[in-house]
Amino acid sequence: MDAKISKDPNGQLIVPNQPVIPFIIGDGIGPDIWHAAVRVFDKAVAESYGGSRKVVWKEVLAGEKAFQATGEWLPQSTLDTLREYLVGIKGPLTTPVGGGIRSLNVALRKDLDLYVCQRPTKWYEGVPSPVKHPEYVDMVIFRENTEDIYAGIEFAAGSADADKIQAFLQDTLHVDYNYSNTTGVGIKMVSEEGSKRLIRAAIDFAIEQGRKSVAIVHKGNIMKYTEGAFKNWGYEVAESEYADKTYTWGQWERTKEAKGDQAANDEQKAAEAVGKIIIKDVIADNFLQQILLNPRDYSVVATLNLNGDYISDALAAIVGGIGIAPGANINYKTGHAVFEATHGTAPRFANTDSMNPSSVILSGVMMFEYLGWHEAAEAIVKGLSQTIKDKTVTIDFYNLMTDATLVKTSEFADKIIEKM
Ligand code: NAD
Repeated sequence: MDAKISKDPNGQLIVPNQPVIPFIIGDGIGPDIWHAAVRVFDKAVAESYGGSRKVVWKEVLAGEKAFQATGEWLPQSTLDTLREYLVGIKGPLTTPVGGGIRSLNVALRKDLDLYVCQRPTKWYEGVPSPVKHPEYVDMVIFRENTEDIYAGIEFAAGSADADKIQAFLQDTLHVDYNYSNTTGVGIKMVSEEGSKRLIRAAIDFAIEQGRKSVAIVHKGNIMKYTEGAFKNWGYEVAESEYADKTYTWGQWERTKEAKGDQAANDEQKAAEAVGKIIIKDVIADNFLQQILLNPRDYSVVATLNLNGDYISDALAAIVGGIGIAPGANINYKTGHAVFEATHGTAPRFANTDSMNPSSVILSGVMMFEYLGWHEAAEAIVKGLSQTIKDKTVTIDFYNLMTDATLVKTSEFADKIIEKM
């Protein structure tokens, strides 16, 4: 019997053996990569559970396909279905030019309050990389998904609203600034609840996965009441809610002040020895050099929306680029989650059966992990790793490798299935 995924009163996900999972096929290269990926998903589930489990895929419309069929880019029925069935997966969507919708992805995240954007970055043997040791990178980014300057509260230079805000800053708040009517205005909002729920999710994940540290990445040295507050709230959450499982750099600082360096270092070592997760913080610009210089020092990363945007692309480039970068948008409280390829629609390559489906396939791996179907996730990773190791790859990797065999999107999926 196919059925809905739900949450029990304790917050545990209840996954039936035949869950209905809505999918958005996506625009541009979406259909090519989805058709390849879904065969890999179904085979992995069949192999892993011998017919006792099966995903019942349910297509919902968004993007160009929705617009052609209904005149709407993101029909209410799609949002309702994703809300009802809890977990969904999507291909890339065109951002409509003009017409009031900023971005379909942002609209989806907003509607379901998907406050965590989770992006794992890990290197698979054989994937071409611009760095010497891509295998040193194994990080999972938790990017806040709903707030920050990225929420899009902004006013054009010369508009009445931009003028009003500047007048308010000048006349009421007496902020000293070189005002002009040629200045655009953007507003950065960061809340305690928004920061804490994101950092909690990162710490919970680190505990569950046995990771050694959570790094809070921020620019709090300059933006003290937004990014600096994010860091402080992070330490506060760790120390008040996870005291028995974490050790923070804030604690280290306090011990250092009171008892000196040696005592602080000993305290941290003792915490590490009993498996406590180290909660540290790094300034965002420094972090962008650290991921190149000392990537092994970082494991789980918790950061604000805009920082997370930059950091996830920089990390993706190190481990092979957007063709192999998966992602998920999750609300851990309600259980709602939408898994997605992080690249765009690459419209020039639509219907060429040539692009890399790894990003959506690995997003599926994240989805199966989320559902607790670990065997299916492992089967896919095994097939994908072996295929890449064998140098059977799509054009993006082929162009950067020597002695590789070029295959189409669909053939790449065949290979993964064969190697499972
Ligand atoms: P893009 O990611 O679509 O493509 C940039 C380039 O990356 C492509 O030309 C291609 O060379 C390469 N590329 C992308 N996906 C690949 C894959 N699977 N395999 C191999 N190479 C791949 O970015 P863009 O051209 O800036 O955006 C095109 C459209 O996609 C826009 O409408 C944009 O708004 C939208 N977009 C959607 C999402 C999303 O739905 N999550 C994300 C980013 C962009």
